[in-house]
Amino acid sequence: MIERTEAVGLLSDLVRIPSVNPRLGGGAGEGALARFLAEYLRGLGLTPTVTDVEPGRPNVLARLPGKPGGTHLLFEAHLDTVSPSHGQVGPFVPRLDGDRLYGRGACDTKASMAAMLLAAKAILGARERGTTVSLAFAMGEENGFDGARHLAASGFRADGAVVGEPTGLDVVAAHKGVVRWQMTTTGKSAHSATPQAGINAIGLMARLVQALDDRLLPQLGMRRHPLLGSPTLSVGRITGGLEANVVPDRCTIDLDRRLLPGETWAGVRGELEELLASLAGEFPDLRVTIEDPYLESRGMEAPVDSAIVRMAEEAVRRIDGGHPIRGVPYCTDAACLAAVGIPCVVLGPGHIEQAHTEAEYVDVQQVVKAAAIYRELMLGV
Ligand SMILES: [Zn+2]
Repeated sequence: MIERTEAVGLLSDLVRIPSVNPRLGGGAGEGALARFLAEYLRGLGLTPTVTDVEPGRPNVLARLPGKPGGTHLLFEAHLDTVSPSHGQVGPFVPRLDGDRLYGRGACDTKASMAAMLLAAKAILGARERGTTVSLAFAMGEENGFDGARHLAASGFRADGAVVGEPTGLDVVAAHKGVVRWQMTTTGKSAHSATPQAGINAIGLMARLVQALDDRLLPQLGMRRHPLLGSPTLSVGRITGGLEANVVPDRCTIDLDRRLLPGETWAGVRGELEELLASLAGEFPDLRVTIEDPYLESRGMEAPVDSAIVRMAEEAVRRIDGGHPIRGVPYCTDAACLAAVGIPCVVLGPGHIEQAHTEAEYVDVQQVVKAAAIYRELMLGV
């Protein structure tokens, strides 16, 4: 039996330990939370390993062995959170209001973490358990997925994985990937009194951005995934020019492209090169450099009839009735695990709308239900 009081207590303990990703506004990092989790797991009689991925920024991994030859399932949640929002009151002082537990990370994703720990604790005494359960708590999800990538690169494998993120207890069987990179137009500087002597890089960039909207977006819109819809492209930042009286010779944009499962940077780059080739005749001065990406993570999908999806769907149905199998547009650690052949679902308590906000909270009833769902999966429903 998983008790609400215990869930509130454990989740409050997790929220109280700041684990803001140090790359996002200089937070303290994941070290203290990792130490707490290792201690908790040792208290359950397990032998966790704590591995620094970067100095002071570890992953935590523990295993509950099942029967030899049984299914091996991984339950994974990330340790880090985003920074407190501007104006967020007491982000690391958990506050319970009715069923809502407020605090940074309460929803994303310490709620899933608490539910996984409670589920693991609940199955400790279960005899005849066939499934081997691994618990992994990974650093660095909010900025590049380094912890999950490290786990995958370490050779860790499982027959399936449940990645804990706020899905409202829906089974997420697919999500998009993301790639971010820069493109620069190069012109020729000149005095602004004689602009005809120069080539205006900002003007060139305006044409490029227009072409991305007019020519590339319709192509992307024609590609459709049953759970994810179409890939997207967004220009998020533009920088260029020195002064009003200088014709600018450089202009740079930052782009964000959301990938469908199977799409890669090589394919994205190929589309851009094709577009540039098609513009060359109209705009002979257009010189564009495509930089290598500074963030890249693949999309993820598990077939809706795969074992992990069917098991997750059944466990959710038993505890909370029917929930949809769906896709989400954001990226998770599941991408790194799926990339090495571990079929994944993303499934956890709370709603993504509450993540990263100044009023971040999770419904503790959902945390209790998530723990029961994870327990069903760990027992091998
Ligand atoms: Zn998250």
